[in-house]
Amino acid sequence: MPIQHIAEAADWERALDTGLYDRSTRGASIAKVGFLHASAGPRQVALVLDAVYADVTEPLVLLTMHEETLHGAGLRVVLEPGVPADPRGEWFPHVYGGPIPVGAVAGVEQIDRPQPRVEQNRVVTGSTTGVPTNVSASVPAGEESAENAAASSLIEAHLSRAIDLAASNAATNGGPFGALVVSADGQVFQGTNRVTATHDPTAHAEVEAIRSAGLGLGTFDLSGAVLYASCEPCPMCLGAALWSRITRVVFAADRHDAAAAGFDDAAFYEYFEAPGRRDAMPVVHHPTDRAAAPFEAWRGNESRTAY
Ligand SMILES: [Zn+2]
Repeated sequence: MPIQHIAEAADWERALDTGLYDRSTRGASIAKVGFLHASAGPRQVALVLDAVYADVTEPLVLLTMHEETLHGAGLRVVLEPGVPADPRGEWFPHVYGGPIPVGAVAGVEQIDRPQPRVEQNRVVTGSTTGVPTNVSASVPAGEESAENAAASSLIEAHLSRAIDLAASNAATNGGPFGALVVSADGQVFQGTNRVTATHDPTAHAEVEAIRSAGLGLGTFDLSGAVLYASCEPCPMCLGAALWSRITRVVFAADRHDAAAAGFDDAAFYEYFEAPGRRDAMPVVHHPTDRAAAPFEAWRGNESRTAY
């Protein structure tokens, strides 16, 4: 899918000399920001022009890149919230891995703006290195679907990989489930169902991917990460995602597809949703005098690591 980036023409001219484009947004470098800010489709380009470049009078160009080419150059494309603190806001493609080789840019076009714009009722909540989401942008009508299609193509790429993992696992020695955890900085950790192979009923693909991410990143806190699963996570995996502070969960097949294939996901959901189903596995509260002792030991341990 095409990924677009607004560049100052002078910065692009300099990139042509050096062979590398190293700007992220308005003078901030990729090295400083950590990634290249980009847009998926004309609607997001319009949003960024309005929110970040409205007062820029220097000539601008629009760089068009293709995700496959960027991957070929060793770069990663991750869809992330424009404002990290607001995962419900607008999501943009971010390119990680360093400066962009000019050869990875497929197209360059001038951005024609009618006239330099003055500040007009602009609401800017982010810095120049973040893209505000609550701006009143002039969005061309009918182009929202193009942007949505571009954004969903990134999600589909991750889901497609999870599905490939699930299918190959099912064809060998495991259940038909695969999952990815994509960290906030774009690192990808994968998991497949290993229940029968390891005699571990908790070795679901999502749990395996979460364990892999925790080990690989050296932290139990996966805030900002997204869990992509080939099938709707069961209650256990949703619980694991909550405990790991995963920011968002995206799945392909649903619990009914899993039930149709003979898995208990739908029944377990009913266990939590309908109190009357608890007789499938009674859970008994039996208070004792010593029940609070572990919490007292926890509170008394000055060197504890809170989580
Ligand atoms: Zn599960």
